[in-house]
Amino acid sequence: MKKEVRVRFAPSPTGALHIGGVRTALYNYLLARQQGGTMILRIEDTDQTRFVPGAEAYIIESLKWAGITIDEGVGVGGPHAPYRQSERKEIYAKYAKQLIEQGDAYYAFDTEEELEQMRERLKAAGAEQQQYNSITRMQMRNSLTLSAEEVNKLMQDGVPYVIRLKVPRKEEIRLNDLIRGWVMVHSSQIDDKVLMKSDGMPTYHLANVVDDYLMKISHVIRGEEWLPSAPFHVLVYKFLGWENEMPQFAHLPLLLKPTGDGKLSKRDADQMGFPIFPMNWNDPKTGELAKGYKESGYLPEALINFLALLGWNPGNDQELFSMDELIQAFSLERINKAGARFDIQKAQWFNQHYLRQQSNEVLAKAYLEVLLQHKQTCEVAKAEKIMSIMKERITFVKDAWENGKFFFFTPEQYDVAIAAKKWNTDAVKVISEYPKELTATEVFDATTAKATLENTCAQVGIGSGKIMQALRLALTGVGAGPDLMMIMEIIGKEESILRLQKAIATLTVS
Ligand code: GLU
Repeated sequence: MKKEVRVRFAPSPTGALHIGGVRTALYNYLLARQQGGTMILRIEDTDQTRFVPGAEAYIIESLKWAGITIDEGVGVGGPHAPYRQSERKEIYAKYAKQLIEQGDAYYAFDTEEELEQMRERLKAAGAEQQQYNSITRMQMRNSLTLSAEEVNKLMQDGVPYVIRLKVPRKEEIRLNDLIRGWVMVHSSQIDDKVLMKSDGMPTYHLANVVDDYLMKISHVIRGEEWLPSAPFHVLVYKFLGWENEMPQFAHLPLLLKPTGDGKLSKRDADQMGFPIFPMNWNDPKTGELAKGYKESGYLPEALINFLALLGWNPGNDQELFSMDELIQAFSLERINKAGARFDIQKAQWFNQHYLRQQSNEVLAKAYLEVLLQHKQTCEVAKAEKIMSIMKERITFVKDAWENGKFFFFTPEQYDVAIAAKKWNTDAVKVISEYPKELTATEVFDATTAKATLENTCAQVGIGSGKIMQALRLALTGVGAGPDLMMIMEIIGKEESILRLQKAIATLTVS
């Protein structure tokens, strides 16, 4: 029988969700939806020293905004609750105890100083690795080197201890990664990692394996940075007797800097002026505000389409995918091994595309918010009209404000180059006449403005094509923009006439 697809996104609440984390969540989600499986959100908060308040809520909000819905987990509940690891301490303790009893794990009492001394000793002896492992463990203070009485005494005295996995000395560990193929590691390369810390919390390495098993996870899809830990996890599965139920692994390629050299960091993104987080993040430690994709004007559809193709390819040259299309087309086999270069221009291109597909009503809402930020208001009908002619020309809604101030303000200045080229006696003739004709119109809209212009031009005997750019200059101050007659309709008859008269009074024919 085919195993039911159950995947998990398992972030640690140590800060804002990185954009790479959104991609990891997305790939998990796509597989779950395609296979009729279950998408789980597990919060891996066992490292109390790195816990950041607000991070969990931020992660949940971000996934929601991106359209990645959770079926089971923190915030939703489910048959394997609790899904927050800090609330599952007893479960991990039980398995750690089992490993101790089987002789596959041991107690270690070494202090920080003793561990440091060991590393120094090994370094001085020229050892390649300075690890706590099958050889060095025998020189340390642990339940393998101390007598049972000594161990009991230390415990009774409340001396802090950890539990470490007893990694076998000579064993070939193999795992078949769905993206990378067979990964083979010799156990001598692996250290006796800590499973339980002295504060009674498990480490990621134990909690992750125990939870993936208990939550019946079928595929572990996560970032490449976890590949080196995977052989250790395989050992834990084996020692706990779960080898046959082990999930399949798929380690995703790194997100690279736009230049392609090295991993993309927040610093790179900051320097190049693009967001690294899905939504605004107020760092509670530094007080710094990092701008998100959402607040920068990206639509979730655009971000999802962009991220889907950062590391996965459909096998043809299709680039535009809705979430539903991604669910159809996605496959783990088509995830690339090589790192994916982060090209923000591509994200902008997607945004442009999805923005054009939005209705004027929806865009107008966003536009009104942008206006509000600039202490500007306008009627909804006007905002919708502005969007109808601006949406083909912008990447973000906020561009409509930057490139369309003329919808609100009479030009104070005129583009000098356009004026020099286009403001001539013909233009002046038409533009002086035009306001008079406009005054007489009963209904004023783009159609009548156009008809009136054609009339005026015919009367003065000058083709309208010859004076269009000068007319645009008079009305907007610049040489290019959306449909001019619609601009007139939007700013209204009075304002149009006023601007034409002002231009005549201000601009001189050179
Ligand atoms: N808590 C780990 C992280 O934040 C999860 C790694 C995994 O998916 O196993 O990246």
